[in-house]
Amino acid sequence: MSEDYGKNTDKFKYLRQAAEDKLSFSENESEIAKKYKKEDIKSLLHEIKVLQAALEIQSDELDRVQAELAGVYRNFINFYDNAPLGFMSVDVDGIIKTVNNFVDSLLSVDKHAITGKPFTSFISPEDTEIYTECLRKNYLTGKSQKCEVRLFSPERKKIYVRLTISGVNEEFGENSDYKIIIENIALQKRSEQMLSDYEENLEKIIEEKTSELERINKFLEKEKNYAEKLSRVKTIFLANISHELRTPLVGILGYSEILMKELKDEEYVKMARRIQSSGTRLLETLNLILDFAKTETEKITLNIESLNVSEIVNDVSDLFRPMAEKKGLLMKVTGAGKPVYADTDERLLRQIVNNLVNNAVKYTNTGSIEISIKKEGEMLALVVTDTGIGIMKDKIDNIFEEYGQVSAGYHKEFIGSGLGLTLVKRYTTVMNGDIKVSSEYGKGTQFTVRLPLKVEKIVKSVSGISPKKQLSRKILIVEDEELNYSLIRSFIGDSFEVSIATNFDNALALAGQNKYDLILMDINLGSDETGVDVLREIRELDGYKNVPAIAVTAYSLKGDKDVFIRSGMNDYVSKPFTKNEIIRKINKLLGIK
Ligand code: ADP
Repeated sequence: MSEDYGKNTDKFKYLRQAAEDKLSFSENESEIAKKYKKEDIKSLLHEIKVLQAALEIQSDELDRVQAELAGVYRNFINFYDNAPLGFMSVDVDGIIKTVNNFVDSLLSVDKHAITGKPFTSFISPEDTEIYTECLRKNYLTGKSQKCEVRLFSPERKKIYVRLTISGVNEEFGENSDYKIIIENIALQKRSEQMLSDYEENLEKIIEEKTSELERINKFLEKEKNYAEKLSRVKTIFLANISHELRTPLVGILGYSEILMKELKDEEYVKMARRIQSSGTRLLETLNLILDFAKTETEKITLNIESLNVSEIVNDVSDLFRPMAEKKGLLMKVTGAGKPVYADTDERLLRQIVNNLVNNAVKYTNTGSIEISIKKEGEMLALVVTDTGIGIMKDKIDNIFEEYGQVSAGYHKEFIGSGLGLTLVKRYTTVMNGDIKVSSEYGKGTQFTVRLPLKVEKIVKSVSGISPKKQLSRKILIVEDEELNYSLIRSFIGDSFEVSIATNFDNALALAGQNKYDLILMDINLGSDETGVDVLREIRELDGYKNVPAIAVTAYSLKGDKDVFIRSGMNDYVSKPFTKNEIIRKINKLLGIK
């Protein structure tokens, strides 16, 4: 239908004119009849009817489309209103024209109280500039713009939103409205805020902790310096006290040894023996205290060498056998009949065996002491068993503690320092071993020490030496104290030709006049010059460059020996010394077998 009247436009115009004429001049039908032919009028009437029908159809179509549009519009409004985002249109003057439900629930204000108002009245004043800038950019570029601002409502204070602004100058021209999409980003902002608070807090915490650590470090540094100072003072004190105690012991032990040999009267010999044993005990205690103090102030450095453990065990058992026999105890050694080699520290091992056997003898009144050694895989097991007084169950844990004398309360006759087992434990631990004790009160005790065992490297002899007659060899003793030089002379006077110098000048004069084969040099000569100074001068004399010298001194702390060796001495012996000790050193340096 529409095509028909569209294409024949001229015809339509003509017909239309005829129809209009007919309507306006219908009363004057004769006039019309004159003007138009009858067939034309007929055809015109038909056309009108057709057009009428077409219009009716068109009107139906329109109604249908309108109904459809209304449905679409309803849907759109539904989506628009209930969208989880805010939609708002704002005119070019900034006045809100429409908003969806999201916006009024966001602002907690009725929709009607929003429309008609400038949008800026809902934006926090600090942020209005951001908003207007965003509008301006949209206007200038025609592209949608995003910005974040704070809106505020009467009830809820401030709400962070993201605005996406578009609409002006893009498709709709300058006079269209701004279309603004509003996203609630309060949650995101809160998380961001929390994160930044947390970061700030974290920084603060780190700052606080760092300054606290710095404070602690400073404090520790101060403490360390103080401890080092204290340790130095302690070491010096130990060196002095050791010197002071050892010097008189030289006299006590040495002269009682001589007296024991020289005296004829049995009573006096007994007295001399008592002096000797008291001196020995004093020396043992002194050594224990010094050793303990050393483990307190410095690290124990191991001097590992391959040695025959059987020899050490036999040595120690020989040392304590007289004491055990005197108490009527049987002393058994098992496993030491043949060599048992281990890579270990001789001094520490000796101390361990010594202390354990010493205790076994000390705390046993009847029965026996058994020392056994055996290899257990990679370990050396040293077991000391006694049938002595035993240790009470509730006391057994205390025995390795410093000064832990559990028998002290109930057996007054057992006197000791309470340091022996502490040292044994420390030495065992330092050598990567372990120590166990099992005991039955009143029946006896068993100590088991397990130490790592290594393959033999060098066999070290620990047997004693007897002095040999070497009268042709000349020895110069430089010593200011009469007690000491007399003792040394009595120890070696039979074997060597001995001269004594009591001071620096005397020593140099004698060395100049005679040719000595060896020098025994005291360090503290009671004057400005030390034994080290004397030796330095003697070494300048003809033929003395390589003459062996032994430092004989009461400076016996760890490290002292190295100092003396570095200053030109060939060996070192600490006071008080035994006859064997000094002779062994002399023989070694003079190559006497
Ligand atoms: P002390 O110098 O007192 O012997 P130790 O450290 O060597 O110090 O020993 C600590 C304590 O352990 C001793 O006082 C003693 O009570 C107990 N003790 C050690 N060995 C034995 C043993 N073989 N039998 C019984 N008690 C022992």
